[in-house]
Amino acid sequence: MTEASSPRTKQDVIIIGSGFGGLSCAIRLASAGLRVTILERQSHVGGKLQQVVQDGYHFDRGPSTITMPDAFRSVFDQAGVQMEDYVQLYELEPRTRNVFADGTTVDLSKNRGWMKEQIAAYSQQDAMRYDAFMDESASLYAEANRHFLGKLLLKPSDKYNLQMLRSLLRVRPAVKLDALLRRYFSHPHTLAMFGRYATYVGSSPYLCPSIFAMMGHVEAEVGIYGVKGGTYQLIEGMTRLAREKGVHILTGVEVHQIVVRHGKVVGVDTDRGLMEADRVVANGDVLSVNRLLLAQEHRKRMSDDRIAKYEPSISGFVTLAGVRRQYGQLLHHTVFFPEQYEPEFEHIFGDRMMPADPTIYLCYSGYSESGMAPVGASNLFILVNAPYLSNAWNWEQQQACYGDFVLEQLEARGIGGLKQSDVLIRYTPQQIAQDTLAHQGSIYGISSNSMKQTFMRPGNQSSDVQGLWYVGGTTHPGGGTPIVTLSGQLVGEQLVAEMGR
Ligand SMILES: Cc1cc2nc3c(=O)[nH]c(=O)nc-3n(C[C@H](O)[C@H](O)[C@H](O)COP(=O)(O)OP(=O)(O)OC[C@H]3O[C@@H](n4cnc5c(N)ncnc54)[C@H](O)[C@@H]3O)c2cc1C
Repeated sequence: MTEASSPRTKQDVIIIGSGFGGLSCAIRLASAGLRVTILERQSHVGGKLQQVVQDGYHFDRGPSTITMPDAFRSVFDQAGVQMEDYVQLYELEPRTRNVFADGTTVDLSKNRGWMKEQIAAYSQQDAMRYDAFMDESASLYAEANRHFLGKLLLKPSDKYNLQMLRSLLRVRPAVKLDALLRRYFSHPHTLAMFGRYATYVGSSPYLCPSIFAMMGHVEAEVGIYGVKGGTYQLIEGMTRLAREKGVHILTGVEVHQIVVRHGKVVGVDTDRGLMEADRVVANGDVLSVNRLLLAQEHRKRMSDDRIAKYEPSISGFVTLAGVRRQYGQLLHHTVFFPEQYEPEFEHIFGDRMMPADPTIYLCYSGYSESGMAPVGASNLFILVNAPYLSNAWNWEQQQACYGDFVLEQLEARGIGGLKQSDVLIRYTPQQIAQDTLAHQGSIYGISSNSMKQTFMRPGNQSSDVQGLWYVGGTTHPGGGTPIVTLSGQLVGEQLVAEMGR
């Protein structure tokens, strides 16, 4: 590393955090010739996505359902390289197995005929409405792409104009996802299967706007993808590309303060001292970054009161189980639904307690690829939706007990022997908060449980501090790996234009 390019000399841009948002932003900036340093407090890059390898079992701890591959592909395209030289995605068909409490199974597929057959097995009426629902889902996705996902909304005129208003009216922001689904379907299985899309953005189907019905189109038509070698390979591929483009990535370095002079960012104070930069991009949770890294006098528009008004998204309770058994009833992605879906969200968002009868999601990447677990064994990532952290639930007291309960629930659904796993690792919302500084342990930033929190998220540009930008799940366009990857690229693009490269 030459002194001229060392992170000790003034950088064009310092990025706080190495999640998908931070990495994609860094690649865009460095590809344009800017000097960029990423500072990451964890010992490995990846943010909420980390890799765990133990006793021959490979796990991805964090995101596992990968959608919208073009959001990742464009990071590589814009850098002038072939994504396949860095990471390979493969399409999963069927996408997801949905298993209901009465034993009914629907393998979500791009094959509409098969989908209708599977739905017709329990509801002829719902099957007849499937095409119409998918048409609406496709048009919602097109609308979101056209007006929302692919652009920054920086100026009031970007948000408040006739075109946006028309678009907003077309997506019927006041109609809740569950209400929209009920215009098409009436059977609880279908309502739960498509209502679950709200959780892809950390929200409740009974509260979030109907725009998230677009996930029906995304899952069935755009596809769900596996990543060769595990989801973490996406992070590995982006990290390699970032380094090739000259980005300095320092792990195990915590930013303690964003340094502001005369209303303008000048750098960051870290446990390795002051590092100077013309711009700072915060990839950490916007609410945590403001609360922890900016003195109150520098965040008049993000006061503690304002921060407290945002509702965090759901969190997650994860179990990684390496077990010397195989389960014929599992696909790469399998969801076990409870008898009733709605109480789960009342528990999570109303009582802030773990659900009494949870939906349990399993990712078994060993289904698609050998080598992820020893021969004859399974590497299971088990996820239960959890409330964001509050006094209502104490993980230190409840972790073991609730963890056993989840395994017993799975046993009752035919996934037995998990208590005898070779590897059994639990990961709680509290640990997510400790590791990534996610505000109240939320995994998708703020929830999308209201029109405002969906369409008017904290902006990508600080309105308090000149030169401070935000990327990642809490800001625009929203949470989930492809969307935060887009946020990094959009901010990168804007800074390249602004900094004259
Ligand atoms: C259990 C789980 C399951 C999930 N499942 C899915 C899924 O199936 N599909 C999907 O698309 N999404 C899923 N998600 C959500 C997805 O992981 C996130 O939306 C995405 O990874 C967030 O990326 P990000 O760019 O916002 O940054 P983050 O991943 O939040 O990374 C931010 C980084 O900033 C660092 N940082 C913060 N403050 C500082 C500081 N002061 N100094 C230095 N570094 C700092 C943090 O350590 C962290 O590494 C899941 C998340 C979890 C936890």
